[in-house]
Amino acid sequence: MAKIRKILVANRGEIAVRVMRTCKELGIATVAVYSEADRSALHVRTADQAFLVGPPPSRESYLVQERILEAARQSGADAIHPGYGFLSENASFVRACEKAGITFIGPPASAMDAMGEKTRARQNMIKAGVPVVPGSTEPFATHEEARAYAEKIGFPVMLKAAGGGGGKGMRRVDRLEDFDSSWRAAKSEALNAFGNDAVYIEKYLEKPHHVEIQVFADAHGNTIHLNERECSAQRRHQKVVEETPSPILTPELRAKMGEVAVKAAQAVGYVGAGTVEFLVDVNRDFYFLEMNTRLQVEHPVTEWVTGLDLVAWQIKVAEGEKLPLTRAPTPNGHSIEVRIYAEDPGRNFMPSPGRITELRVPGGPYLRDDSGVYPGYTVPNFYDPMISKLSVWAPTRAEAIERAKRALDEYVVKGITANVRYLHAILSHPEFTGGDYDTGFLPRQHEALL
Ligand code: ADP
Repeated sequence: MAKIRKILVANRGEIAVRVMRTCKELGIATVAVYSEADRSALHVRTADQAFLVGPPPSRESYLVQERILEAARQSGADAIHPGYGFLSENASFVRACEKAGITFIGPPASAMDAMGEKTRARQNMIKAGVPVVPGSTEPFATHEEARAYAEKIGFPVMLKAAGGGGGKGMRRVDRLEDFDSSWRAAKSEALNAFGNDAVYIEKYLEKPHHVEIQVFADAHGNTIHLNERECSAQRRHQKVVEETPSPILTPELRAKMGEVAVKAAQAVGYVGAGTVEFLVDVNRDFYFLEMNTRLQVEHPVTEWVTGLDLVAWQIKVAEGEKLPLTRAPTPNGHSIEVRIYAEDPGRNFMPSPGRITELRVPGGPYLRDDSGVYPGYTVPNFYDPMISKLSVWAPTRAEAIERAKRALDEYVVKGITANVRYLHAILSHPEFTGGDYDTGFLPRQHEALL
């Protein structure tokens, strides 16, 4: 392992820009890849060099391993940072990088294999003594078997695609009468979305919290955790607002969950930054949900309260350095992140691509805007519609909420519709300010928040 001099960022949007910013600070040259829809994208303008990798659809550009590797070879990049999404959790891409002699900034392919499919991850976690959400550890061969299993563990149950992700391929079933139609729908949804129709069953947990632990491991056998993020503000099983510390965690529960997350990472030989996701039930028992073997969208809140640059540490770990800490730091203050989407909450959150005619980004103390857009930029309709993440820090949770609301008040975007007012309504809602909001909060308050 040697010093990295040039990094190709195999991604687009805010995360590509964010990674390149750290590269610049570390004196590392940057290479962008882009599709035909992204010729004028911010990440292309931010990079030292840029390579066109194909037409707009991701399958023909950002997901084509050979094109990305070719750009890396041509540019002389010695490492690839995958960001999140796209090829970031693709073990075959990690192997292809290795074969090409290019450092993949992320965990080894074997760790991705162990955590990739949800059923395999559950088996591995049970073996390691990590509590998992009750349910099956294998997909079902027939729908009779599946139905019998659901009856045995009791309704409601959650049907889940083994190869699922991004909040897709999940279906709650409340009654036996609904099982067959839901099962068929889940199978075909899984096949369509993930090319794999394997579906398994979990007990549906009522009113859980989604609390995840950031873990970090170096190549010398040191694994630590960097505390939690509370991600229960979700719409369609996708996160909208995240914060740390979690308002529901006691120091004891934090330490316990941290310890289990480290055990989970060690069990699969993890290296680099990863996130172990848990559901916490009403009794404050916690269960492994899945592990994301990459940098998360919501990593800035962890950076705010730890003072660390997680991307810098991903790069240093890839260079063979040891972690700067030996144990979890005590969280300093409070941080909240909101995800700004080019979407229209008034029209069922329909994506709202188009030209940004005016953009005014908030400023002031302890505020960060991780953005992939600029005034005059046209948001394409081919990709995830998230345009920016605003994150804030303050000494206390109450102050962080006020600061985030103030930031949203200052945020002006014209030409497209964004969910700015919706986010403000979430932060102002008594259930949110009260701190004990579960994953049902946004769906329950849907009307009130519009
Ligand atoms: P994905 O990989 O698609 O993100 P996850 O398994 O991480 O899917 O789950 C996403 C979200 O769906 C969770 O944060 C939670 O809100 C909900 N969820 C998943 N499994 C269950 C379950 N068994 N019971 C209740 N809610 C669940």
